[in-house]
Amino acid sequence: MPIATLREVLKNTRENHFAVGAFDTMDHAFTEGILAAAEETQTPVILAAGDFPGPDYSNFLPYLVDRISRTSVPVCLHFDHGGSFEACARAIRAGFSSVMIDGSALSFSENIALTKRVVEMAHACHVDVEGEVGHVGANAGSVESRRDDSWYTEPEAAAEFFEKTSVDALAVAIGTAHGVYKEAPKIDFERLRAIRSRVSVPLVMHGASGLSDEDFHRAVENGMCKINAFTNLTLAVTSRIADDMPSLISPLQMSHEISLKMTAYSKQEVLRHIRLFETEKIHERSRA
Ligand SMILES: [Zn+2]
Repeated sequence: MPIATLREVLKNTRENHFAVGAFDTMDHAFTEGILAAAEETQTPVILAAGDFPGPDYSNFLPYLVDRISRTSVPVCLHFDHGGSFEACARAIRAGFSSVMIDGSALSFSENIALTKRVVEMAHACHVDVEGEVGHVGANAGSVESRRDDSWYTEPEAAAEFFEKTSVDALAVAIGTAHGVYKEAPKIDFERLRAIRSRVSVPLVMHGASGLSDEDFHRAVENGMCKINAFTNLTLAVTSRIADDMPSLISPLQMSHEISLKMTAYSKQEVLRHIRLFETEKIHERSRA
């Protein structure tokens, strides 16, 4: 299928109360697991590669763009946490169909000005844009956030931000943080409902790794349309591979075996997230 835009994969998510997962990927084996899960469930998916240290993107991105063209489901290629106008421009040139401009650590007016510029440039290239208002901070070890501390999204600020920037998706801070949690996060669902009632654009949850199944259900029910999954997913996959290591005894077979296991385990983890995000409700939409 041709590469899909963010708006295409998030279509009707709000109305039908389901979310689409954005899965950060840094290698071939993980990517194959994500796409296998999406194809098995015939649901759209967002593959994300970030503006933070990772693989050699000059080699990795052409593989992603080519691989997406050979899938049977809509796949959006999303640039996660773009840190500047220039980084977003380079991402668009490299083939991303969606970019996040993360101005959340700037002042409100600076964030609006930067995001607006990126939206104008990206929309001219038929690329969609995610912005962030409020700030989702970081737990220890996270690479995504520009600052560790968090501040909540004010519903009125979300409305003003959307009105002034025309973003296609909006990340909001309601009590989550990137990376590994020391204790369970407390999600402010009332705030989420208040934001939801004021803005019609799809809302995005970052820092979702510490949430319970019930938290995910309530987040989706109350208006989260795109949920980013990275930390928990990679920890689950690598811990299962570490458990298998003693049984992998042949050096010749080991790298191939590890690669196959990464694909198999990441597929299982992504399938679990697709169920948590209720993405398969998209089929109810098409039957209706
Ligand atoms: Zn994030």
